[in-house]
Amino acid sequence: MPNGFGSGTRRLQAVGFVVFLLLLGSVAALLLDAVGRYTDDAEDVAHTQHVLATLAGLEARVQGAIAQQRLFLLLGDPDSLAKFSIAAGASREIALELPNLFAADSPQAGLAGTLERQVDARMTAAEGVAVARQQGGLQAAVTELGKGQGLVLERDIERRLAQLRQTEQQRLLDRQQVSEASNSRLALLGSLGLLLAALVVVSMMLLLLRENRQRRRAEQASESDRAALRRSVGELETRQQQLRSLADHSSLLQDCQNELEALEVSANALRELCAGWSGALYLMRASRDYAERARSWGPAASQPGEVVAMQACWALRRAESHLLPSPEAGPRCAHLPAPDECCATSLCVPLLAQGELQGLLWLGHEGMETGEPIRDLAESAGRDLALTLGNLRLRESLRRQSIRDPLTGLFNRRYLDESLGRELARCRRRQQPLTVLMCDLDHFKRLNDGFGHEAGDAVLRAFGELLGKAGRGEDIPCRYGGEEFLLILPDADATTALGRAERIRGAVAALRVEHLGRPVGALSVSIGVACAPQHGEDEASLLRAADAALYAAKHGGRNRVVLANSGAETGPVTQAL
Ligand code: GH3
Ligand code: MG
Ligand code: MG
Repeated sequence: MPNGFGSGTRRLQAVGFVVFLLLLGSVAALLLDAVGRYTDDAEDVAHTQHVLATLAGLEARVQGAIAQQRLFLLLGDPDSLAKFSIAAGASREIALELPNLFAADSPQAGLAGTLERQVDARMTAAEGVAVARQQGGLQAAVTELGKGQGLVLERDIERRLAQLRQTEQQRLLDRQQVSEASNSRLALLGSLGLLLAALVVVSMMLLLLRENRQRRRAEQASESDRAALRRSVGELETRQQQLRSLADHSSLLQDCQNELEALEVSANALRELCAGWSGALYLMRASRDYAERARSWGPAASQPGEVVAMQACWALRRAESHLLPSPEAGPRCAHLPAPDECCATSLCVPLLAQGELQGLLWLGHEGMETGEPIRDLAESAGRDLALTLGNLRLRESLRRQSIRDPLTGLFNRRYLDESLGRELARCRRRQQPLTVLMCDLDHFKRLNDGFGHEAGDAVLRAFGELLGKAGRGEDIPCRYGGEEFLLILPDADATTALGRAERIRGAVAALRVEHLGRPVGALSVSIGVACAPQHGEDEASLLRAADAALYAAKHGGRNRVVLANSGAETGPVTQAL
């Protein structure tokens, strides 16, 4: 919720709360006032009732005293006399007290004073008659009665009492009405107060509930913020890990010595970076019209086929990655199986370096994936791999150029100088012999002169091919210079070497080379054979011995094989030096 709106609402709540409190205070004050009045009215009612009771009590005492006096006059018994005395005393006491009950009401107090005097006079008259009865008997009492004003006083007392009672009863009625009104007001104000208090309580509860709800919402919002933060931190960590893996991948690739190592490094990195995906790496063949699978991993590794023709893959054709997030999401590469047999998501990334296709990376997932994050990783890893493959091929081609003779494809003199010493040392270590065949085509100058230099080149190429095929895998055929060739045979003794030399000589004799549709004529070769260690222990002495054997072969008439420093001969025209 925006701040302005929140603070406005809170201000409104505060004002409402103050108004509520003021209302409640007013109602409470009115309630207190009503309670005070109600208490006063109740006290007044009680006082009036007390006055009425006192009047009734006085009347009863006065009538009781007169009754006991008359009984005594008749019977003359002391008991009635005693009761008369007590009642007369009580009447006087009550009558004396009566004016005090009307202290604030002067008319009633005046009447009460008059009543008190009349009661006293009546009791005094009754006492006089009683004394006469006691002392002079009944006659004396009658005489005393005749003197007195007893009956008149009695009627006066009754009138006074009736007056006082009537006034008090009227007052009682009035006060009861006032008290009932106070009572109703009190009930009304009490209800109002309760209602307001209930409203305050309900409002407070609603406010609390609302605050609670807002706090919960804020907590939920901050929890979802925290979750989003955790998520983005997790994504960042994953991204950092991926970048580290890509950097490691790139650094490892730089130290790879050959394509196989590079493919292994990339396959491992991609398997880790694209967990859950199957994959395959393809290398472009020299013909450049198809790529061949070199590495694969994951359950669906075989799906895109062992060989991918250039025209069968959109990525190879367009030289940019081709992503299918679902089997029907776009044009399918023809090297993929039918949609119902293929991975739901498929990605082909061409391996391009310096504008040249080096191969293809394929990734596939069984489920439907957007593939975009994987595409970035795959493209990045693919770029590094392609660059490495390009560099390795370039390095290989340079190396090849530096050690190969361009005309024949055999090793050159430089390579010969490097490898002969190494092979000699190796055979020495293993106490194995090593033999060299030094070959020189016979009368080559004549052939050049007769058929032309290009025909000579064709013969050199044909002889190079023959020499390359004549050896075993570990043999090293070299072009020594001009029309001279050297074949190094590690682990071959003189006898074996002579046999091989003889086969070469025979093959050259049988060789038919054509140039521009014209046969080049009969060819022959002379071969000098030298074997380490008996003919020389180091490169120089071994080559010297072979050269000498070759010279002997030439000198002996050419088209022959001669073994250095020995009488060994092979073949029909083989001669020893
Ligand atoms: P021999 O039987 O005594 O070996 O006689 P030869 O003519 O073969 O020997 P020579 O050393 O006199 O001549 C070698 C010739 O080989 C000289 C040269 O023109 C030729 N030659 C050297 N290198 C090449 C080459 O790369 N191509 C061609 N076509 N000829 C070459
Ligand atoms: Mg020569
Ligand atoms: Mg020659």
